[in-house]
Amino acid sequence: MKGNYIYYFIICPRKLWFYHHKITMEHESDLVLIGKYIELFYKEKYKYQKKLIIEDISPDIMKRYRDFVLIYEIKKSSSFKEASLWQLKYYLYYLNRKGLNVKGKLIIPEESKEEYIELSKEDEKKIEEMVKNIKEILKSDKPPKVIKKQYCKYCSYRMICWSDEI
Ligand code: SF4
Repeated sequence: MKGNYIYYFIICPRKLWFYHHKITMEHESDLVLIGKYIELFYKEKYKYQKKLIIEDISPDIMKRYRDFVLIYEIKKSSSFKEASLWQLKYYLYYLNRKGLNVKGKLIIPEESKEEYIELSKEDEKKIEEMVKNIKEILKSDKPPKVIKKQYCKYCSYRMICWSDEI
């Protein structure tokens, strides 16, 4: 399962369902484009040369050190910090199970924030629970119900969810 599924699940399960079913509208979002530019800048900064993909796992940057691998997740802002943290923790969880000694670092360049992330036993249980819930959502042939939230007005799917109100 892709790491951004965890991110979307926390932000909005309905958004996750759309994304999984290839109903994508994010190409229209300026925020997504800005995020991609920031990611490119950091890849250059850390001399990242090749996108490393392990099965479905494709973190922004993976840098190998002598005894461990450092996984970087780069976000434009801390608006969805919790979702970003869990996405990164999912990478740690997944790669740990592949036998890699991994550590995580969350970077929010606009706010000059960098934070090392570790995975606890409680985190592992929470991730397993999230993965179970995500699988249930994706199995359904209908998206979860619309739940109005502050984020909806910035969401690229708002035209689908709130067309009557626009
Ligand atoms: S507009 Fe709101 S309800 Fe619809 S997918 Fe986006 S966040 Fe979810």
